Amino acid sequence: MINDILARFDAGETLSKADLCALLQIPVGSEDYYCLLAAANGYSRRAFSGKGLIFGQLGLDAQPCRINCKFCSLAKDAMNGKPVQICGLEDTMRRAKELAEAGAEDVFLMTTAEFSPELFLEYGKAVHAVLPETVRLVANVSDFDLAYAHKLREAGFTGVYHICRLGEGIDTSVVPEVRIRTLDAVRDAGLELYYCVEPIGPEHTNEQLADEMIRPRDYPVGVMAVMKRIAVPGTPLAARGEISAARLAQICATATLAMRPQRAMCVHEPDELCLMAGANQLYAECGTNPRDTCAETRNGRGFSVEDAKAMLKKTEWN
Ligand code: SF4
Repeated sequence: MINDILARFDAGETLSKADLCALLQIPVGSEDYYCLLAAANGYSRRAFSGKGLIFGQLGLDAQPCRINCKFCSLAKDAMNGKPVQICGLEDTMRRAKELAEAGAEDVFLMTTAEFSPELFLEYGKAVHAVLPETVRLVANVSDFDLAYAHKLREAGFTGVYHICRLGEGIDTSVVPEVRIRTLDAVRDAGLELYYCVEPIGPEHTNEQLADEMIRPRDYPVGVMAVMKRIAVPGTPLAARGEISAARLAQICATATLAMRPQRAMCVHEPDELCLMAGANQLYAECGTNPRDTCAETRNGRGFSVEDAKAMLKKTEWN
């Protein structure tokens, strides 16, 4: 079965949802499991010419976020009286520049849904002005319409990280239709869309995972990703636990074959096994982080650019 699927992938065929579900149900550690990882690894080493990539993400604020996602440390219920924190403009410019100078090829500015959209455009313009021309500037913000997507572009953003999350509308307070409207706005404004299957928890079915691997086919997506859900203490979903590294690698490999990403395949958070299963790109992070209870994620979960470089080197990505 898997040999047939992998042969059709090699022949250039687009894999179906049934194919993806078959790959996702392979028992971890079986011979087929390693064949799947090898196929994704082989694809990515060829497609990306052995080159590893590092992106940098800067979280701008910690405010009780109205979207109230059940896995997020910045959600209204999880914040529960913790101090509000907003990175100033000068600090944002300095930190974004530092990320780029350290080697981040794309720099992401991330906010909660409480951050003013107009102020965010001002931040974007200021950061764009200090970044080298070769560095892409990417927005990771709440939902918006086409008019705002154009404003992001005018401010200097080249792309947007946006997704329809697993459990959207159940574990978050945003329905999938709103996410899809934003995804369409990103595409229609000519911004690059960065997509991810996230946040993956033990309860998600193979069908749910496959749906989110297929959804980005409706858009031009050059950078695909997978991310497991972190069991953040104090969040409602922490009790459900986390998927294993072995399972994440299987999902990473399957998503790679599903999307054939042309520019990069990311695993979030950094993970060596996934770098041998299709991933070639990691994030360095600083500032606030929905997956961290530490106010400055560089002192907590966040990798530095140097940490990311070291992991890429260990797995023999250039
Ligand atoms: S994940 Fe984002 S949208 Fe959801 S509560 Fe956290 S900051 Fe808000």
